[in-house]
Amino acid sequence: MNRPYNFSAGPAAIPAEVLQQAASEMLDWHGSGMGVMEMSHRGKEFLSIYQQAEADLRTLLAVPANFKILFMQGGGLAENAIVPLNLSRAGTVDFVVTGSWSQKSQKEARKYASEVNIAASSQDSDFTTLPAPATWNLSRGASYLHICSNETINGTEFHELPDLKALGSDAPLVIDFSSHVASRSVDWSRVGLAFGGAQKNLGPAGLTLVVVREDLLGHALPACPSAFDYKTVADNESMYNTPPTWGIYVAGLTFQWLLRQREGELSGVAAMEQRNIAKAELLYNAIDASQLYVNKVAANARSRMNIPFFLRDESRNEAFLAGARERGLLQLKGHKSVGGMRASIYNAMPLAGVQALVDYMREFEQKRA
Ligand code: PMP
Repeated sequence: MNRPYNFSAGPAAIPAEVLQQAASEMLDWHGSGMGVMEMSHRGKEFLSIYQQAEADLRTLLAVPANFKILFMQGGGLAENAIVPLNLSRAGTVDFVVTGSWSQKSQKEARKYASEVNIAASSQDSDFTTLPAPATWNLSRGASYLHICSNETINGTEFHELPDLKALGSDAPLVIDFSSHVASRSVDWSRVGLAFGGAQKNLGPAGLTLVVVREDLLGHALPACPSAFDYKTVADNESMYNTPPTWGIYVAGLTFQWLLRQREGELSGVAAMEQRNIAKAELLYNAIDASQLYVNKVAANARSRMNIPFFLRDESRNEAFLAGARERGLLQLKGHKSVGGMRASIYNAMPLAGVQALVDYMREFEQKRA
């Protein structure tokens, strides 16, 4: 099947093989006579789906044994509240604000933490840079420090997670990795908790992934809803309440697809990372070489996943998008808060899709140069 290339920031493209498998199992999962959406979450069929998904994700992301994997609901924005409800201990929390998402996160945390310290911000550069960790103003005894490790709207990405210990802080690092989870490896030695919605790189909307170090469990504020208390969720293997069964199943199929991917000697996330580097380079090089397109993000902060770009002649925006749609290049319109264009090139986007975009961009530029 020849499908268009879908550059949506999320919900985003899912590998066709995954969709085909889900479709073929829709009415009858493995001879059970039931579709996955119709199964009890406590039955042996769904439990096997859940356990396989959990184990595959642990392998894929090399999650150490002292971290729990939680499958929750509510998305990244709910986690902006759930994290401080669980981790703030009503004390001080540090934030590094590097774009729209971390901005939202710090605002929400103010409802639960007694103090929110903005340790650093890149607002002065219009969020086109990332402040160097050595310049962060860390508070003493902070309950945690939050960063958005890939800012989906602004198109910045931390290519190395900060080493808070080396900066003299004992605070656990919290990362919002919604928009680059499984696109690259994670250095868990630097992380206390990672969260992300599934709808960009893992599967359908409705599933939220939380990976949390065990020693951070059990400190929720009394007001924390039981269904959002990480310890309760962990103690019940994500089944305190009914988990998002369909999302876990489709994410599980995506994990298996990821495990099958190969680039030379590499497999899984390492193979994806190699591919993602090549895809991003292709697109950034095309943008930088052109007279028409521009990406404003500092070279060392450019995201491999979300690439916003602008036409220097903005009167051509609609024509650009219409021509793209005609060629099967979908959902390239930029986020409403920044305008312009944005190409989200998550794991499910093949190099050929980025090549098709680059070819179209060149042609569009030359047509009226
Ligand atoms: N964080 C990041 C980095 C995001 O990209 C998004 C969604 N685009 C969110 C949080 C919010 O996620 P949700 O809509 O699932 O709550």
